[in-house]
Amino acid sequence: MNLLDFYRQYPDESSCEDALRHFREHHGLFCSRCGSLRLSWNPSHRSWTCMDCKHEMTLRSGTVMQGSNLPIRDWFAAMFLLTATKRAISAKEIQRQLGRKRYQPVWEMAHKLRDVMGKRDARYNLHGDVEIDEGFFSTETPEDQKDCPLKRGRGSQRKTSVLVMAESGFSDTPSDKKQSTPKVVGHIKMEVIDDLKASTEMPKIKQATDGKVNATTDGSNTYASLEKDEIVASHKAVVMDDKKKVGKILPWVH
Ligand SMILES: [Zn+2]
Ligand SMILES: [Zn+2]
Repeated sequence: MNLLDFYRQYPDESSCEDALRHFREHHGLFCSRCGSLRLSWNPSHRSWTCMDCKHEMTLRSGTVMQGSNLPIRDWFAAMFLLTATKRAISAKEIQRQLGRKRYQPVWEMAHKLRDVMGKRDARYNLHGDVEIDEGFFSTETPEDQKDCPLKRGRGSQRKTSVLVMAESGFSDTPSDKKQSTPKVVGHIKMEVIDDLKASTEMPKIKQATDGKVNATTDGSNTYASLEKDEIVASHKAVVMDDKKKVGKILPWVH
């Protein structure tokens, strides 16, 4: 995904609001007060109302964007800048790219995004339970999937591959909806990768983790030798509910 693709996909604030709304609704949106999954959208308020406890939830509530006055589009653009460029990008540079007068809100945004994206500037090593998977920024998204900025799977769209590594502090019991909802947000690292070969991904996984993680993957061949090569302490291959997985790894969803 390049800058032109970004502008085409997110031309204005309302396109970003729509994307965020549909994205959250597709990925396990629940009432932050009572945990109910029955929420109805109120177009005039731009918010959801819980049908069980009447709690009102804004588009941003419960996300990394909560409490920020910056447009959602700025957050999307900053996410794009932080993930699509291979070099580190400063808050000053993000401020310049977004054309914002005030530095403080941009600095806070960049700080929060870096925090959920794994503190890559601080050379932070992921530890504990880590989910490893590939994600894609697609640039030619089919009509029925256009609400989903990050598509997963090995499809045929033109796309930029991203290696996603996420610490998970989540329950292991997907049978219970409330229990499998993320309560603790771990750190996340995303790295743009040129291909999906083991020889490309293994060094990146080694670099991003502390060498003692318990890894979970989808069982693709790429990860077959993770444990044997002593890149991780243990490796579990599982097939997970795709929607739940995407909801966990995307910073603006938690
Ligand atoms: Zn509720
Ligand atoms: Zn989706």
